[in-house]
Amino acid sequence: MNDAANTRTYPVVEYFCQVKKLNALTATTFEIELEAPEGAELEYAAGQHLALELDVNDDGTPQSLSYTIANNIDSSRPRRLQLFIQNGSEFANKILKTLSSLYENNERLKVTLAMGNAYLQTDLALPHLLIAAGSGIAKVKSITEEIIKQQPDANVHIYWSNRQANEFYLLDTFEHWSNQYRNLSFTPVLEVTDPDWPVRFGYLYQVIQEDFDKLNDVQAYLCGSPQMVYGTIDRLEPKGLKETNCYSDVFEYMPRDKFTSAKG
Ligand SMILES: Cc1cc2nc3c(=O)[nH]c(=O)nc-3n(C[C@H](O)[C@H](O)[C@H](O)COP(=O)(O)OP(=O)(O)OC[C@H]3O[C@@H](n4cnc5c(N)ncnc54)[C@H](O)[C@@H]3O)c2cc1C
Repeated sequence: MNDAANTRTYPVVEYFCQVKKLNALTATTFEIELEAPEGAELEYAAGQHLALELDVNDDGTPQSLSYTIANNIDSSRPRRLQLFIQNGSEFANKILKTLSSLYENNERLKVTLAMGNAYLQTDLALPHLLIAAGSGIAKVKSITEEIIKQQPDANVHIYWSNRQANEFYLLDTFEHWSNQYRNLSFTPVLEVTDPDWPVRFGYLYQVIQEDFDKLNDVQAYLCGSPQMVYGTIDRLEPKGLKETNCYSDVFEYMPRDKFTSAKG
């Protein structure tokens, strides 16, 4: 990570939160809204994550589950925490059922925040690339909100890939920002071509390679699987992108040496 980064340490605090909203955004993604107790003063940086403590198997043994906080701190609703949870497995389905039961019964759950080093910390005078696959858009949304707040004319290029057209649940939000802020661009990317929605398609790195000649000063935030993150960095290095200018949670939970040995 960049040594010149604007780093700040946030405290790790536990809150007993209520599930205020559980809303299907697509067939596979849910928006969850948590509310910290009255008087709580949430402190986190855009791009950090939290841990939910959930008794997913209903056996009295809670598990700690990481989710990116999708909203920046909003002074009009300072106790709100927004999450996007993908229902991509039997386990994720159980997580959502547990949250749904807490919501219906108006019960609280333990939430610990703030965690993660891949939060917004770079010089906004430099160009930025924000790259997300699937639910990785949660981090990009929060970071974009903070950039707009701090420096609305910052040079920011956002790329979000999904498998299908109907998975772009934040399309209106990002298109609105790209219309409103002259130096902010948003590019949705489909993994395979769709005749009904002629947008860019392919791997994220391919689309970015087509758009940029040089990436030497670019600061990049990447959120997705380790394959996507390391694959994108490697393919963009010949254009000048430096791994020391890249920020991702993957660096913490799957460092490159572990990733390389896991691949064999
Ligand atoms: C730091 C961190 C943040 C996470 N944030 C989210 C999140 O915001 N939404 C979500 O649905 N799951 C997130 N996850 C994954 C989540 O904790 C569980 O692994 C998942 O909900 C359990 O279901 P699974 O077995 O299908 O997940 P896994 O097979 O473990 O994970 C696959 C899913 O998690 C998503 N995911 C993995 N890491 C991230 C990340 N950093 N940010 C966003 N999505 C990620 C992937 O896109 C994929 O949909 C995060 C994981 C980590 C380590």
